Amino acid sequence: MADESIVLSKTASVNQQIRNPAISKMDEKNTTNAGSDVLPDIGDHFMIKRSDDTWHAAEVVQTRQSDHSGPGVKPEFYVHYDGFNRRLDEWVEIDRFDLSSKIEDQQTKVKELTISLTDLTDGTDRKITRNQKRKHDEINHIQKTYAEMDPTTAALEKEHEAITKVKYIDKIQIGKYEIDAWYFSPYPEEYGKQSKLWICEYCLKYMRLEKSYRYHQTQCFQRHPPGKEVYRRGTISVFEVDGKDAKIYCQNLCLLAKLFLDHKTLYFDVEPFLFYILTEVDRAGCHLVGYFSKEKESPDGNNVACILTLPPFQRKGYGKFIIALSYEISKIDGSVGSPEKPLSDLGKLSYRSYWSWVLLEILRDFRGTLTIRDLSRMTSITQNDIISTLQSLNMVKYWKGQHVICVTPKLVEEHLKSAQYKKPPITVDVSCLRWEPPRRGFKMLKK
Ligand SMILES: [Zn+2]
Repeated sequence: MADESIVLSKTASVNQQIRNPAISKMDEKNTTNAGSDVLPDIGDHFMIKRSDDTWHAAEVVQTRQSDHSGPGVKPEFYVHYDGFNRRLDEWVEIDRFDLSSKIEDQQTKVKELTISLTDLTDGTDRKITRNQKRKHDEINHIQKTYAEMDPTTAALEKEHEAITKVKYIDKIQIGKYEIDAWYFSPYPEEYGKQSKLWICEYCLKYMRLEKSYRYHQTQCFQRHPPGKEVYRRGTISVFEVDGKDAKIYCQNLCLLAKLFLDHKTLYFDVEPFLFYILTEVDRAGCHLVGYFSKEKESPDGNNVACILTLPPFQRKGYGKFIIALSYEISKIDGSVGSPEKPLSDLGKLSYRSYWSWVLLEILRDFRGTLTIRDLSRMTSITQNDIISTLQSLNMVKYWKGQHVICVTPKLVEEHLKSAQYKKPPITVDVSCLRWEPPRRGFKMLKK
């Protein structure tokens, strides 16, 4: 009985949430002069013109008053285009709506919403194991419908969507780049509802107004990431930043990264992590290109926690450079490691391609017998990642309870010729890497 009452009260609060939009709608009607009797409401479906002038059915997810100052504050609507990636969700004004196109099934919409939100809160009888969570995380980037997922996965996915439904920040200005944001990021309330955020490319401080940003530029004398430079070759420079020593910088970096990563959970607890910041150097300073973070002590054996290349620098080989650097550091450290899951769809492709290239290069030049353990020792790639890569290359067989590598020089050459596995455009020059493992010996001596 007790359980039932909990569920009932949760359902009640869900209903209140659903009624709220109607209240905000009335407010809008009273305070605005849109000149129309119909104002779109949360949950409504209309035909809406996208910025490329094409019309698509879309759902209204959220409403707000525009942040432009001046007379005649206008309502804005956050819309999700049916069947499109959430990356394309955006704020639009009323003039982009075809108000005559409203899809009139409000009753069923509200019902659906009630069911899905109830599913979310009613998790009491469902124990979510770590394994299920992992499974959920791993499939996240494959665009499945809720119906195709098992119930637990669907509930977790709905929860994630409910929290991150509205991407308030449309774009950022960082250095010379204006970049469209892809996903929600939990910037503090007063910043998170700006349509454009101004970010200092050196200290990563975020500002609401262009004039604050311009003023900050005259006051900020930082020209490279904090911490020590661990790699420099040509115009590429990498800095190692300890989350404990530069907490604000690392938190700002995580908030920025979340704008481009759909699933990322770390923003504020940065102290247990090291951050490796990739920059392009010119006379003005070191310009942020991307980064990876890494737990100082990883119980799961991860050598990368989070990895990102900023959109203006994508598809230029920087992602693979960052991956290669993470493995070179593991090699010096004498450890093997794997990236933390889930990987984004782009991350998965980059890793698969990097692993394949590294293994094919070794297999091409090597004469004699090699075990999977040997390959792991040579590359710092885990045995599991090696096996799955070799499987995808059709180079491993399972024989008498063991994975056995089966390759012919011809097969290796054929793979190396294909564009997918060609040499990365920017490689790590190990002679330019000045990185030393942390002094763990001290700790061991104490024990
Ligand atoms: Zn600054």
